[in-house]
Amino acid sequence: MDENCIFCKIINKELPSTVLFEDSEALAFKDINPQAPAHVVIVPKKHYSDLFEVAEGDGIVAHLHFIAAKLARDLALSDTGFRLVMNCGEDGGQSVGHLHFHLLGGRSLGWPPG
Ligand code: 5GP
Ligand code: ZN
Repeated sequence: MDENCIFCKIINKELPSTVLFEDSEALAFKDINPQAPAHVVIVPKKHYSDLFEVAEGDGIVAHLHFIAAKLARDLALSDTGFRLVMNCGEDGGQSVGHLHFHLLGGRSLGWPPG
C-alpha cells in the first residue's frame, strides 16, 4: 500500500470504482476516462510502481494477462479483438505509478499508437 497512490486507494475501496473482476491478487475496474467502448484497468493489489519492480519468477504479470483474457471473453471482445497495453514511464505515457494494464476494445484501434 502506497498512501499517495490512487490505485491503492481504489483497491482499498477508499475511492469508488466500477469493479469488473476481483480476486486475492488483482482488481479490474472501468477506466474513468475511457479511450474505447471497453476500457478496463487491471492492477495487482500489491503496489509495484512499474514493470521494473517485478522480479523474475513473480507470476503477477502472467496473472494479469489471464484476467485480461477472461475479461475479453466476458465483454465479448474475443471475436473482434482487443488491445492490452502497459504504458511505462514518461515517454510511454504512464500517468499513475502503480503497475497496470489497459484492456481496450469495442472499436477498431489504430496502429501505431500516438
Ligand atoms: P496510465 O496513463 O498510467 O497508463 O493509465 C492510468 C489510467 O488510469 C488512465 O487511463 C486514467 O484515465 C485512469 N484513472 C486515473 N485515475 C482514475 C480513477 O480515479 N478512477 C479510474 N477508474 N480510473 C482512473
Ligand atoms: Zn499503488
